[in-house]
Amino acid sequence: MRLPVYLDYNATTPVDPRVLEVMLPWFTENFGNAASRTHLYGWTAEEAVATARKQVAKLLRANPKEVAFTSGATEANNLAIKGVFERYSYKGKHIITLATEHKAVLDTCHHLEQLGAEVTYLIPATDGLITPQQVADVMRPDTILVSVMYANNEIGVIQPIRELATIAHNGGALFHTDATQAVGKLPIDMAEEGIDLLSLSAHKLYGPKGIGALAVRQGIDIIAQMDGGGHERGRRSGTLNVPGIVGLGKACEIAQKEMTGETARLALLRDCLEKGILANIPHTFVNGHMQHRLAHLTNICFEHVDGENLLLSLKDIAVSTGSACTSASVLPSYILKILGLTDDQAYASLRFSLGRFTTKEEIDFALQHIIEVVERMRVQSAV
Ligand code: PMP
Repeated sequence: MRLPVYLDYNATTPVDPRVLEVMLPWFTENFGNAASRTHLYGWTAEEAVATARKQVAKLLRANPKEVAFTSGATEANNLAIKGVFERYSYKGKHIITLATEHKAVLDTCHHLEQLGAEVTYLIPATDGLITPQQVADVMRPDTILVSVMYANNEIGVIQPIRELATIAHNGGALFHTDATQAVGKLPIDMAEEGIDLLSLSAHKLYGPKGIGALAVRQGIDIIAQMDGGGHERGRRSGTLNVPGIVGLGKACEIAQKEMTGETARLALLRDCLEKGILANIPHTFVNGHMQHRLAHLTNICFEHVDGENLLLSLKDIAVSTGSACTSASVLPSYILKILGLTDDQAYASLRFSLGRFTTKEEIDFALQHIIEVVERMRVQSAV
């Protein structure tokens, strides 16, 4: 049986074989606890973690000391937002974020609302973009944090991070970005862009699942959400996942070297798929901004077809509607609905996300398959 063509790299990426290779010894012969300061096993692990920390920091143009390893971006978002709120709520309790954030940000904010936080959820324009003015308009003297994702997981829209951070700072607030879908895909310079806290996850950039990081600019204090042995400079206790951390570091190193070429290659393939769908299938349109977006992704609405049937009929490709994290529910994507799509349009929208191992042959095959399936479905529904 032929496996479906994988076009869901935004949900997760396979581990790059080069990443796996450097991870393997850290499960077996080099099994030491990075916090064991009394013997060679511990020192070796500690050194590997230090190297990985440098690799991650380099990709963000941050200082290695600013990187705190977590179990992924969900935890990093929780740590950033809850950690800032707990630390600075004496100054104010107002947080600004977007209604189109990932659930790991939205649900964290909802949690904090139970504890007295006041959260403004901004609605972007129909192309998914937020303007700095929208943020400026809702800044208050008691705003302590502005949290805006770098690139959206469903539509790929890239927000004007630098400008948003400036507005936050001018109002005396910190700026956090969930950069899970941007790290390794876009050049990032934390200091230059004014990012105070940045969340990332290894499994979106060809590293393993269950490891990520929160980068926290020096001088910014946050309250840990995991208490224990005081690891990660007291920001996140728990024995370090050395193989995972080594893998994340290597994934960052590879991304740094290959990002430019990879982005250009994937943009061509994405455009080929997108143009092919729009040109050959009537009543289709792209969701989100066409320029300010990730190069490897397109989110397309196929009007007048049943979304669930469409996904079931596209057996030879692996794509998603909505984000994988909420796909257990049968609700239409809240992100697409915020952009103004009807329930039917949101159900009938598919996210195609390409990646490192996507080939031209796969894209040609996927395009043909999509054209055939949609044509068949429309003929059937017209009968
Ligand atoms: N934020 C965004 C934008 C994401 O796409 C994801 C993964 N779907 C997460 C956070 C959660 O990351 P993790 O799987 O590492 O918890």
